[in-house]
Amino acid sequence: MKHKGCENEPRILEALGQGVAPGAMEGSLRRHIASCASCAEVVSVYELFQNDSEQLCAAVPVPNAGRVWWRATLAARRAAAEQALRPILIAERAALAVGGGVLIALLGLAAPWLAEQMRHSSVFSETVAHTFSLSSLLVTSVIVCLVLMAGALYALWAEK
Ligand SMILES: [Zn+2]
Repeated sequence: MKHKGCENEPRILEALGQGVAPGAMEGSLRRHIASCASCAEVVSVYELFQNDSEQLCAAVPVPNAGRVWWRATLAARRAAAEQALRPILIAERAALAVGGGVLIALLGLAAPWLAEQMRHSSVFSETVAHTFSLSSLLVTSVIVCLVLMAGALYALWAEK
C-alpha cells in the first residue's frame, strides 16, 4: 500500500503540535479534514495519543508545576538564608565561648575575695592570706587563659 500524504498534512501536524485542538483549527483546515481520509487519519491518531496521555496522567499523580516551583524557590531561599547566617552563627559560638570564659574568670576573681573573707574570719596571719590571695590570682588567670583557648578551639571545631 503506497501512501502519499496530503499536502495539508504538514499544516495540520503543525497546528496539532502547537496544541490546537482539531475542532479549534481554522475553518478551511477543518473542512479539509472532514473531506480528506489521510488528514482525518492523522487527526484520529493524534486524538488516540492524546487520550492515552490523558489516561496516563490521570493514573500517575503528576505533582502540580506551581507547587514544584514553589518548593524549589523555598529550598533556594532557605539555602541562601543559611549561607547568610553562617558568619552570625560563628560569631555567636565565639561569643558563647568567650562569655563562658569571662564567667569562669569572674568566679576566679571572686576567689581572692573569698580568701579575704576567710582571712577575716579565721586565724590566718596577714602574710599567709596575702600570698594565698596572690597565688590564687595567678592560678586563676592561667585557668582563664586555658578556658578561653579551649572555648576558641571549640568554636573552630564546632564550625567544622
Ligand atoms: Zn488532506
